[in-house]
Amino acid sequence: MQTRFDLTQSDIPKNWYNLLTDFPEPVPPPLHPGTKQPVPPEALQAIFPDNLIQQEMSSERWVEIPEPVREIYALWRPTPLLRAVRLERALKSPAHIYYKYEGVSPAGSHKVNTSVPQAFFNKEAGTKRLATETGAGQWGSSLGMACKLFGLECNVYMVKVSYQHKPYRRMLMHTWGATVHASPSDQTQFGRKLLAEDPHCPGSLGIAISEAIEDTVTHPNTKYSLGSVLNHVCLHQTVIGEETIKQMEMAGEEPDVIFGCCGGGSNFAGLTFPFIRKKIKEGKKYRIVGVEPSACPSLTKGELKYDFGDTAETTPLMMMYTLGHQFMPPAIHAGGLRYHGMSPMVSHALKLGLIEAEAYHQTKVFEAATLFAQSEGIVPAPESAHAIAAVVDEAIKAREHGQKKVLLFNLSGHGLLDLSAYETYLTGKLTDV
Ligand SMILES: *Cc1c(COP(=O)(O)O)cnc(C)c1O
Repeated sequence: MQTRFDLTQSDIPKNWYNLLTDFPEPVPPPLHPGTKQPVPPEALQAIFPDNLIQQEMSSERWVEIPEPVREIYALWRPTPLLRAVRLERALKSPAHIYYKYEGVSPAGSHKVNTSVPQAFFNKEAGTKRLATETGAGQWGSSLGMACKLFGLECNVYMVKVSYQHKPYRRMLMHTWGATVHASPSDQTQFGRKLLAEDPHCPGSLGIAISEAIEDTVTHPNTKYSLGSVLNHVCLHQTVIGEETIKQMEMAGEEPDVIFGCCGGGSNFAGLTFPFIRKKIKEGKKYRIVGVEPSACPSLTKGELKYDFGDTAETTPLMMMYTLGHQFMPPAIHAGGLRYHGMSPMVSHALKLGLIEAEAYHQTKVFEAATLFAQSEGIVPAPESAHAIAAVVDEAIKAREHGQKKVLLFNLSGHGLLDLSAYETYLTGKLTDV
């Protein structure tokens, strides 16, 4: 039986897909916090280059992927689509379970799908140096690799607790030539102020974002880069779904239900936006489900409203499902899903009923992750395992109702740098918050 569906280099998509152009009603624009008026493109020029600002607000359905970006994508794309037959058997389910595997990239996750074009467009625009923040280091390492490949400097503010306790992605960033500061740092006025108040401040993503933005506006030829949430990031990730549509055709099946884990929403957007296009344009009836941690439930428990993207209130206001920009997510092991808000595009899709959302506790997530590793071999990232937990439940439901459902999910990354979280689970020390 064929269980792996591979495309060739020439099948790497030539365009990214922009769902903004197909929503039945427009996504509410970002607002200036003072005037409450839509933010004009010029207002973003201090932190982003013009070409990416254009993509953020683009009204083109298809955005061409530059050849130098496609050539770097070819280092790991097209990624495989696999059928999880051993997981199906382990669950004794008649469901067919397919997964798109983004963990084959050099950084081990989907994030390089956007770090590479972001570095490319910055280089084109004359940027010499990028500043960014990172929590556990997935985004910082992805941007570090992309910057090195295009000859840009990369300056990363890494949340101090992770800097100290999660050394491997920091080492990866160093290997790719990035400069990494434990945040709060002595590099910025904001960081120095916090250190003066409390030299042992553990840091947070909100603080690191504020430092990266301050770094950007106080250094020449420097721009800021973000790894999720924004429209242009979701746009870049659509290569995942465009490839998957072709691969599901190779498999001769159509998904009934499509799952992706949701932190800021980018890997979910990447897989599902091309399928949402088919829902809108071709009347397809897919159920599309975003899966988030119960400990940080913006889609299932948040409120849809205008809110800041960061704790220090420096960003424009975005219309999104949010737990409030002051929300401090508990220290769950899926570090990449600890964000108070959700991508405005993903939020809009939920509001319009194009997608649904579910939340899972981390013990259930690690139970599903371990079952997946023991049946399919791949050790999933704790973030991706949220999607697996939902797939497992759906496959069990299919068994109980005797339905041959076709399930599809995005395996956004591998968990080989998250083994300490697995150890916590395997030694019975994991708790739900
Ligand atoms: C960062 C990360 C996520 C969460 O980010 P999204 O923008 O929601 O995709 C999910 N999976 C992995 C492997 C990650 O590194």
